[in-house]
This record gives sequence, structure tokens and C-alpha cells, in this order.
Amino acid sequence: MQKQSITDLIRAEILALSAYHVPDSGKMIKLDAMENPYQWNETLQQQWLENIQHAALNRYPDPAARELKQALRTTMQIPDGNDIMLGNGSDELIQMLALTFSGDNKILLAPEPSFAMYKLIAQVAGMKYIGVSLDKNFNLDMFALLETIEAHQPSVVFIAYPNNPTGNAFSISDIEAVIETSTGLVVIDEAYSPFADHTFMSRLNDYPNLLVMRTISKLGLAGLRLGLLAGATQWLEQIEKTRLPYNINVLTQMSALFALQHYDIFQAQTQQIRQDRATLLSALQEHENIEVWESQTNFILFRVPHATALFEGLKAQGILIKCLHGSHPMLDNCLRVTVGTPEENQAFLNALENLI
Ligand code: PMP
Repeated sequence: MQKQSITDLIRAEILALSAYHVPDSGKMIKLDAMENPYQWNETLQQQWLENIQHAALNRYPDPAARELKQALRTTMQIPDGNDIMLGNGSDELIQMLALTFSGDNKILLAPEPSFAMYKLIAQVAGMKYIGVSLDKNFNLDMFALLETIEAHQPSVVFIAYPNNPTGNAFSISDIEAVIETSTGLVVIDEAYSPFADHTFMSRLNDYPNLLVMRTISKLGLAGLRLGLLAGATQWLEQIEKTRLPYNINVLTQMSALFALQHYDIFQAQTQQIRQDRATLLSALQEHENIEVWESQTNFILFRVPHATALFEGLKAQGILIKCLHGSHPMLDNCLRVTVGTPEENQAFLNALENLI
């Protein structure tokens, strides 16, 4: 019998997708992925090596990651009465949420432009995705948003707070109205909380349909891949059913626990990044042909006359940032630069100076 073809076997939604592309950064100055540019000092590296040298790599990890969860509860100030679950990065938590709610044309809604994975994961998991455009200042368009929520009753609304790639934090009262209007779940994705002034974590007990998501990636531990979702047990015990039992490996559990015992180091680093963000922002603001937006994250969004040419020019000089041109109509000629070390930021500004 003739074999079935790829198009016979694979869903139209998957065939239509483009895989998420991560460029090879080689030896370039890497300012494209919102990483913390700082490594640990020698002493800490040594302590960490001692800590993990007896790791039981022959055993499966603790599937409930009890010790790590306890440490995260304290560090992230998760209000009593709420549960937490862990993902291999918050990416994986988005995937688990989408899998939990998929089927029967259920809807995942998010403002746009926002984190690209909400749409991609929704489509892969078989949910219907609805994006609602932000207004021209990148705030929530409350009229359109509430109207769409009421009309379509999404199962899950994702709000990145602060938002990627625009860098701003939406109005608190707007988000409250979204939570109150939604008949489904609202997930506040606080990936950039180390750089932001406000959190919804403390509001978990106010809203039974609210979940708060965090990651340790932007804090300075992107390589470990660890995200967490906090909220009411009745939701998390359902979402847990989609979690693969050993998703958080032994080394991640041990290393993250070790890192949380040295949390002050990460706080100092993120404080430094906030200061450097201000310096970078003012340097960009000095250019009259650059439009630049304030940020509550560790990156800055800016618009130039010819984004693609600038992006390529920077790359040719060994600096990798993110070109957003073409990714969304509101991001025409926009670029996103991650705040690096002061030296990296200066190298970026010098290269920019020659190109703009
Ligand atoms: N949420 C937002 C808003 C992000 O920008 C990112 C990463 N860029 C993530 C979640 C995913 O982070 P991670 O998988 O590293 O936890």
C-alpha cells in the first residue's frame, strides 16, 4: 500500500506554522534574548560545583521538586493558600496551560504585539488563538479587549506584565478589569518582574480566576530552564495532569535551590541592569531619528528609519539584537535591544552611532 504523505498525516495548523527561530549568535555580543549578562564569581562557582558534585544523576529527580518549591514560595512571596507548579522554563507552563484547555475550539486570547509563544503554543496545542491589538501607545485597548472577551469568552487570557516586546507595564486597573470581565482564567506572565515596580502575585487571593507565572530566566538563570505558575489548587491540580513527571531535572533542582540561597547576588545584578537601562535609554533618546519607549524590563524597544539595514549593520560589527520589523504591523522598523554589561551597551551604542 502506498505510504501516506506528510500533508495527509499532519494537521493543517502545524503545516501552516513556521518553527520558532533562534539565530546562532556565535561569538557576537549577545543582546537579543533578554539574558542577564553576568556570570557568578569564582567563589560562588566553586561552592556550586561542590554542591552539585554528589548529585544523584542515576536517579530520577523528585517529581514534586518539594525543596525547590518551598524555596520559591519564600523568595517569590507566594501568598498562603496558593499552590505552585513548575515548568521547564515558563514556555513549558504556557504549553501545559494550552494543553489543559485545548479541544472543542477553546480560545486563548492575548494582546498583540506580545510574547510570540502564546500564539504559537495555542496553535500547536489545538486551541483557537485571538489577538487583540494594543493601542498606539502600546497600552491595552480596553474597549476592543473587553468587547472581544465578552463576545468570545476565552478559556485563557495571557497578559505579559511587563509586556514583551514593548517593555511597558499595562495599567493596573485595566488588568483588574480584564480579570473581572473574563469568565475564564487570566494568566499574568511576570517574566520581567525582577525589573518591574509592581506585581500581581499579592493579588492571587483576590481573584479566583487569576494565575501568576514567573521565570528565573531573566533573573540570571536562563540556562537552567525553570518557570513557575502560582494560583488556586483547583486550577493547578488540573494543569498538573499535563505535566510530564520529571520535567525539572536533578541539576536544575539543585542549582536553582543553591541560587535562591544567594538571591542577594541576583538582586544586585538586576539592580545594576536597571541602572544601565536608564543610561542606555537616555543615550538612545538623544538621537533625533530614533523613537524609543520607556521600559520596565531588561530590554528597550526603539524605532529607526531603516530597521533591517541597522540590524544587519550591527550584526556585521558583531552585535546581535532583535529585529521586530515584519513581526507585527505595529512594530514596523522596530528593534529590541537587551541591556547588557556597561561595556556591551557602549559597544552597541558606538556601532549604532556609525550606522544611523
Ligand atoms: N514570558 C515572556 C513575556 C517572555 O518574554 C519569555 C521569554 N522571552 C518567556 C515568558 C519565557 O521564558 P522562559 O521559558 O525562559 O521561562
